[in-house]
Amino acid sequence: MKNKILFLFVLIIFFSCSSETEKWVSVFDGQTLDGWKASENPESFTVENGTIKCNGNRAHLFLENKSYKNFEFEAEVKTLPHSNSGIFIHTKFQEEGWPQIGYEIQVNNSFTGSDQYPELRKTGSIYGIRNVYYPFVDDNEWFTMRIKVVENNVQVYINNTKVVDYIEAENAWRPEGSEGLKLSEGTIALQAHDPGSTVYYRNLRIRKLPEGKKQELVVDKNFDDNITKLMCAGFPVIDYHVHLKGGLTIEEVVENSQRLGINYGVAPNCGLKFPVTDNESLYEYMESIKGTPVFKGMQAEGREWVTLFSPEAVAKFDYVFTDAMTFTDNQGRRNRIWKPEEVWVEDEQEFMEMLVGKIEAIFSQEPVDIYVNPTVLPDVLNPKYDELWTLERKQRVIKVLAENGIALEINARYKTPKADMIKMAKEAGVKFTFGTNNTGRDLGELEYCLKMIKECNLQPSDMFQIKPEGKKSVQNKGLPDNVTG
Ligand SMILES: [Zn+2]
Repeated sequence: MKNKILFLFVLIIFFSCSSETEKWVSVFDGQTLDGWKASENPESFTVENGTIKCNGNRAHLFLENKSYKNFEFEAEVKTLPHSNSGIFIHTKFQEEGWPQIGYEIQVNNSFTGSDQYPELRKTGSIYGIRNVYYPFVDDNEWFTMRIKVVENNVQVYINNTKVVDYIEAENAWRPEGSEGLKLSEGTIALQAHDPGSTVYYRNLRIRKLPEGKKQELVVDKNFDDNITKLMCAGFPVIDYHVHLKGGLTIEEVVENSQRLGINYGVAPNCGLKFPVTDNESLYEYMESIKGTPVFKGMQAEGREWVTLFSPEAVAKFDYVFTDAMTFTDNQGRRNRIWKPEEVWVEDEQEFMEMLVGKIEAIFSQEPVDIYVNPTVLPDVLNPKYDELWTLERKQRVIKVLAENGIALEINARYKTPKADMIKMAKEAGVKFTFGTNNTGRDLGELEYCLKMIKECNLQPSDMFQIKPEGKKSVQNKGLPDNVTG
């Protein structure tokens, strides 16, 4: 008798914990919307050639009478240009409006919003919590989206590459009125955003996963909350200036990105006597980082770079940046001002005038997007930085950037430019990027940049946006034969 009771007890525990991964279950029969229930504008969802088509006035399509806690959901998705949709998880049926419960996993490959309200959150984002800002999949192409939730951890995979790995902290910060923006348990929903947006879903399936362990936050709670605040405001938390140096691998960069929530742009140094030095080595490099979940940047080196590559090859990168630390001075000497033995400062004022003149020449002639390592001086002049960077010189630099639509990097390593110049540049309409320019494996946490957001009251609309294909700087301006100045 005693044994029998014990056996029953074990049996009950076994079945109540759902300790095993269940089989994949299809949740769309390919022909009807049976099992689904739409909100406010049901006509926005139709079945077309074995797909669910989301197009029309705002509406959400909920999987009816289902609840999932730990699970994996997968669907194939295809977007048309300028479309916006999403897959809600841990949500609940709502008659109208944007679902207030659970997370939206964003589907958006090319919809950019308006100038005033730029929409930079791309496919794979946990909308407003951990955003993906880099373009990873294209319109008009089927891709697979897989969402995995185990306790307080959400992972998002696109075509089997993980793009988000988020740990929800105890008492994670949420904006007032959005307390439902968190994990709990609930159903799945698809979004129809607006009549201009068309997104298709097919082969939707789900499987329940066993209970897991709650994960501890691996970053400081204040840092985690601050990142969420910025993501929630749609602020592009992107470090565009990362190098694979000191043995740092692309896998480690990606891992770091998902740990911190910061998106990265990885850039090789491209120029004379650098590994990427002609079209062939440039295409080889692009091939080597294909499909990695980061922005693909180009650091244009020296002034000769404009003669080494074709515009078509340069346009393979998402963006191009350069600094003014390499140039040939008035006496024909090639300066590399970060190396004390390769810089010649005979007269401080003359040197500064020449440097500002070089900055003006570079950014009025070279087809780049961002001025990086801005205002950095040779070591010997550093103690006099504030004195040598006069108001007039700062104004000249800002003017050339504003006139040529070139963004100004806020550099985390050099801590330049200072707040006063950032405020002047903002006033002049110059856009900004964040960059670390790491020399080794440590990428830091963008401390200086995050500080400047507050100090200079930077808004998402103050930040640089990647130029779309066909409108890249090199596609507009071409490459000059040489850069004079
Ligand atoms: Zn660099």
